[in-house]
Amino acid sequence: MVDCIFCKIIKGDIPSTKVYEDDEFYSFLDISPVNKGHALVIPKHHCRNLLDFPKAEETDLMEFIKKVAKAVMKATDADGFNLGMNNEDAAGQVVFHAHFHIIPRFNDDNLGSWPSKKCSEEELEKVRDEIVKYL
Ligand code: 5GP
Ligand code: ZN
Repeated sequence: MVDCIFCKIIKGDIPSTKVYEDDEFYSFLDISPVNKGHALVIPKHHCRNLLDFPKAEETDLMEFIKKVAKAVMKATDADGFNLGMNNEDAAGQVVFHAHFHIIPRFNDDNLGSWPSKKCSEEELEKVRDEIVKYL
């Protein structure tokens, strides 16, 4: 896509710190890392996010992510990692070319996890019943 920054990175029109690539995917370091070694994985064909991600590429994607995540873990001596994907504005998506964040985590990085809310059994069942209607 013409105005997509990640399409430009894949084409080499914008520089990136490439980690690895194959025919379908490209991985490079995030320019503003959460932790050292924070990598992004993107499909080479433009899509917006997970909802229009091509089915044909799904299986290969997980293998690609695991390969990069293992390398990031070893290289940074991480204790764990987060695999994240922001889908749409409300979830923090800023670049509208599907991408997965591989964020190395350290026992002492004090980043914690995302906040949680209390929810009654009744509320859980109510929202579950709404979700199930669309499956
Ligand atoms: P989002 O919030 O859309 O899930 O994440 C977009 C990510 O892309 C951000 O973490 C941001 O730092 C990263 N990013 C945005 N522009 C560039 C760029 O030009 N080069 C690199 N390497 N990362 C970028
Ligand atoms: Zn794109």
